Amino acid sequence: MPGFDSIIDQERPIRILTSLLVNGTIPHALLFTGIEGVGKKTAAVALAMACNCTGREAGADGAGAPPPGVVGPCGECAACRKIAAGAHPDILRVSPAGAMIKIDQIRELCQVLTMKPYEARVRVVIIADAHTLNPAAGNALLKMLEEPPARTALILTAPQTGDLLPTIVSRCQHIRFKPIARHHLAAILTRAYGVDPPEASLTAALAGGSLTRALAMRRSQWLQQRSWLMAQLAALPRQSTTALLALAEKLSQAREDLPDALDLIASWIRDLAVARHAPESLIHQDLREVLVELSQATRLEDLTSAMRALQDARQRIQANANPRLTLEALFVKMATHLDQTRNLLPGHPRLI
Ligand SMILES: [Zn+2]
Repeated sequence: MPGFDSIIDQERPIRILTSLLVNGTIPHALLFTGIEGVGKKTAAVALAMACNCTGREAGADGAGAPPPGVVGPCGECAACRKIAAGAHPDILRVSPAGAMIKIDQIRELCQVLTMKPYEARVRVVIIADAHTLNPAAGNALLKMLEEPPARTALILTAPQTGDLLPTIVSRCQHIRFKPIARHHLAAILTRAYGVDPPEASLTAALAGGSLTRALAMRRSQWLQQRSWLMAQLAALPRQSTTALLALAEKLSQAREDLPDALDLIASWIRDLAVARHAPESLIHQDLREVLVELSQATRLEDLTSAMRALQDARQRIQANANPRLTLEALFVKMATHLDQTRNLLPGHPRLI
């Protein structure tokens, strides 16, 4: 049952929400920011449940009162169950239709909010991915925030405040969710999802603090793909141009996986930079020997250039440049940067 206890490693947000509940000061509008998969939506649903839970109310004689400090939802009363199942008439969810939240969705919402809630003590509207509000929808939402409907709390979620109209941000109480710490994420993967500890640790390191992302990696057999891509990267400076072009073509064909592949390449370059001096903090611990060896022949400024080329490629792809051509240019550059360093070392054999 999704309650506050199912949210990992977010003590501060939970403490703030708990104190709002204890004091009965739930604001008209809240903004939860943080990367995807850190518990924002779960916290929004848990808050909706806690605001409407009937299972923890004191009876006339005080019997059944929650223990001091417990304000989370019971998870068992009718209201909690309906909300958890997404079947409560007063808990409304708005999310992007396609790439954006459109004006019609907000207009429809405004219409519903002119009426009284059916049964909720506090009606809760969860606007997920509020950064995708198109300008017209954002302005319509702003009007609503200026005259908030009674007994209603709006919860917006977004990666960061900079993605929203400042006028919207200023009308919301802002609560920041941080990325989940690597060891917490690894522990939850092992405890709740039965992942072997070494694999859990690697997945957690690569997931960048997002549980959603870690689980997506598990589903897509991503670790197997990682092994393949890591081998390709290790061999990059020795590859022929034809092989580099073939690698670019192969990666560009799996368009949906491309952001993950680029992140993986970034983690590889990052690991090469730390391997020599701090091998204990490598992301790819299982490739420690290879990375330490390669890092001996690598200059930091060349890694910086490779990282810059990668960031440049990422931006181009986000701006809809041709992925295959962009990757081709990237791999040729990376191979050159990493290969130059090899040439600087006397006695290091040229392999091509
Ligand atoms: Zn309840």
